[in-house]
Amino acid sequence: MRILIVEDEINLATPLKKGIEKHGYAVDLAHDGKAGYDLASINPYDCIILDLNLPEMDGIEVAKKLREEGTDTPILMLTARSAQNEKIEGLEMGADDYLTKPFNYQELILRLKALIKRYHPEQTETLSAHGIELDPGKHGVTIEGDVIELNRKEFAILEYLLRNKGRVVSQEELLEKVWNQEVNIFTNTIRTQILNLRKKIDPNKNVIQTIRGVGYKIND
Ligand code: CA
Repeated sequence: MRILIVEDEINLATPLKKGIEKHGYAVDLAHDGKAGYDLASINPYDCIILDLNLPEMDGIEVAKKLREEGTDTPILMLTARSAQNEKIEGLEMGADDYLTKPFNYQELILRLKALIKRYHPEQTETLSAHGIELDPGKHGVTIEGDVIELNRKEFAILEYLLRNKGRVVSQEELLEKVWNQEVNIFTNTIRTQILNLRKKIDPNKNVIQTIRGVGYKIND
C-alpha cells in the first residue's frame, strides 16, 4: 500500500516517513502543497497525510482540488492546536479525519489504518492461496501455519499478487503500486525481489508464475 505525506517541516516529515514505512507501506514525501497535489493527481495512493499550513498551496486547497477532480483517496489532515476553524474547514473540504500537532505517533498509525480500512474494507482481510496466508493488518505471513519472515518489499509484492490472484501483474504495475517515487529502480530489482520471495515461500516455483515478457501471476 502506498501513502503520500505532504508536510513542509522536514524534521517531522522524515521520521514520520520512516516510521510509516516500518509498517510495510511505501511512502512518498512532498514538502509543499503544489508538489503534494501534483503527486496525488498522478499516483494511486491509499491514504494522504496532509498538513494544513503549507507553502505554495495550503492543505485545504489541496484537499478541495483533489475532491473536485474526483479523487476519493482518504485524507488525514494535520493541524496546529489552535486552528479550530481550519479543522472544520478542512473536513468540509474533503479531509476524512484530522490529528492535532503535536500528535502521538501510535495514534497516527491507528488513524491511518482505520481510514484505509474504512475506505477499502477488503484490504484488511486475510489473503490466501496455495497454503499461504497473508494478514495485511498484522503484517504476517504463514505457510501451512508456519510463520515466514519477509522483508517489506517481499511482503508488499506478495500482498499485491495475492490481491490480484488469477490475473497477470506487469512489472510496471508492481513498480507503480509497491515502490515509492524516489527509489531509482530497475526491473532487475523486481526480479531480485521475486527471486528472494520464491526462495522463502515458493522453492518449487508453483505459486508465483512468471509470464515471460508480461509479468507475474498467482493462480487461484
Ligand atoms: Ca506546516
